[in-house]
Amino acid sequence: MPNQFNYDINPGRIIFGAGKLHVVADEVRRLGRARALILATPYQLSDAWKLAENLGPLAAGVFGQAAMHTPLAVTMKAMEAYDALDADCVVAYGGGSTIGLGKAIAYRNDAPQIVVATTYAGSEVTPILGQTERGVKTTVRDWKILPEVVIYDPELTVGLPVKMSVTSGLNAMAHAIEGVYARDRNPVSSLMAIEGVRALRDALPIIVNQPTDLGARSNALYGSWLCGSVLGTVGMSLHHKLCHTLGGRFDLPHAETHAIVLPHSAAYNAQAAAEELSPFAEFFGDSIGGGLYDFAHSLGAPLALNDLGLEEAHLDEAADLAVKSPYWNPRRVERDAVRLLLQRAWEGSRPQ
Ligand code: NAD
Repeated sequence: MPNQFNYDINPGRIIFGAGKLHVVADEVRRLGRARALILATPYQLSDAWKLAENLGPLAAGVFGQAAMHTPLAVTMKAMEAYDALDADCVVAYGGGSTIGLGKAIAYRNDAPQIVVATTYAGSEVTPILGQTERGVKTTVRDWKILPEVVIYDPELTVGLPVKMSVTSGLNAMAHAIEGVYARDRNPVSSLMAIEGVRALRDALPIIVNQPTDLGARSNALYGSWLCGSVLGTVGMSLHHKLCHTLGGRFDLPHAETHAIVLPHSAAYNAQAAAEELSPFAEFFGDSIGGGLYDFAHSLGAPLALNDLGLEEAHLDEAADLAVKSPYWNPRRVERDAVRLLLQRAWEGSRPQ
């Protein structure tokens, strides 16, 4: 535990519980707003329209074109819809892609945001926005980006397909596992990280066998909130740098990439951050990398970057990019060791 620390607590209102979707109307009123633009991906459009019906006159309309990595062109269309419909706040209904669109709007016009989070990605509790223009992803951090209200209703996650639940849950764990060795960690962020990983470790195996188990869904959403809060509080290291590189340059899917890389990045830092990672030994065994790999394997998670369509010939470039302007990391970021890490992650072999 660091003996000196700063802790900037992210403001925000969290409402948690089965059936809590119904409080959206109260929350719009509580913010002093009257015309919410509801955001969704095409996949969750019908849920968004259902919510609009329930909100009645409090819904200004629905914009259902949210897309992965927040493309600027989509944000501009959504801004036009916001203005044309005379909206005065946004309700993002969905996962990180939809939440990203809400954040992108708020970043530009300071619209208050209510998020109904339906995956475990954790974006809803961070002041961070990643957006893409002509294939280039940039990240901004600003208080305007942090959603004002987050509603976690586990009933809405019961239909999240098992495969996505697993990869999204491992994505959440990655925030917490990097959070415990962050340079700017504090005792509270570390408590949240450990409790978040514990909750997800307990919940995911149950979800795999019984996706409709509301207790496990509740536990997973609770864990993802904690892990997301860690991401929103402290800096990330090699793992996130690798995933941003693989996602940005090679267009690999977000949650799956995190799920595959996590055991390898944890193994890379296992010795340098042995003390900080020690609470996880109880969860996954002393060898954090091997333990996480076995856990992911037991859940049926994807294990090889090869299976996501990444070509082996791209590994050199990925290693070069990842070490070019590295994030701070507890172990020195060495090109050859990173290349080896990527090779193993590409093959899907168990970290040593
Ligand atoms: P996603 O939001 O892209 O969702 C994937 C698909 O699943 C979508 O079609 C979505 O509509 C659907 N879906 C979501 N919830 C569902 C549910 N409960 N039931 C059925 N279908 C559902 O995936 P994601 O992993 O949540 O988000 C990834 C994006 O979030 C990436 O762009 C990533 O960069 C971003 N992200 C940002 C931060 C941040 O702090 N800025 C943090 C994490 C992720």
